Amino acid sequence: MPKQLFVLSAPSGGGKTTVARHLLATFPNLRFSVSATTRMQRPGEIHGKDYFFLSKDEFSIRINQGDLLEYEVIFGNYYGTLRSEVRRILESGESMIFDVDVKGALSLRRAFPDESLLMFIAPPSMDALEKRLRSRQTESAEQIALRLERAAMEMQSVDFFDEVIINDILTQTLDRAEEVVRMHIDT
Ligand code: ADP
Ligand code: 5GP
Repeated sequence: MPKQLFVLSAPSGGGKTTVARHLLATFPNLRFSVSATTRMQRPGEIHGKDYFFLSKDEFSIRINQGDLLEYEVIFGNYYGTLRSEVRRILESGESMIFDVDVKGALSLRRAFPDESLLMFIAPPSMDALEKRLRSRQTESAEQIALRLERAAMEMQSVDFFDEVIINDILTQTLDRAEEVVRMHIDT
């Protein structure tokens, strides 16, 4: 059975955004699931394209209205998948790509056991992950420390994933991710 939901998970800095951008540029029928978050907008990020940036109050209202398919508190902020996003894209017959944390990935599999494919993008080492987080220059030293701490926990969940890609040499990672999606996507 072809898959419609491609779920990318990785420790922060592992390479999900880089892989997701490549897949979106490669497969015209793939749409990005734009999550809601309460974290600050980074330079270059666009509301409605990268995330829906909400205040904590707005996010709480959306939770109470039952608008979220899943959500987690990560690094002190809320992040969640909007039911409306998933419904809108699936109804159009297109496939979706998700960039979510490990718990979010497992929640999506519970909601769509037959339609989802879970891909874990693993850094080659914790040292490499730390270097990439630092060179991205988007987080404070405190945020980087939080992300590295959580990464150790997230790495323990790799066995739950359908595909694990070690993101060492970027071109190889992108080729492999593309190959996996090509094998499963409905064309
Ligand atoms: P995530 O979305 O999982 O937080 P990103 O895709 O933003 O991760 O990647 C984190 C940083 O590491 C970015 O600056 C990105 O350009 C860089 N990066 C990603 N993959 C590699 C790689 N294989 N080799 C070197 N740098 C990489
Ligand atoms: P960042 O702040 O680096 O964009 O994301 C931090 C973490 O939140 C990443 O692991 C990312 O995958 C995760 N994340 C982003 N959107 C969602 C979502 O909708 N649900 C869940 N569970 N995690 C998300």
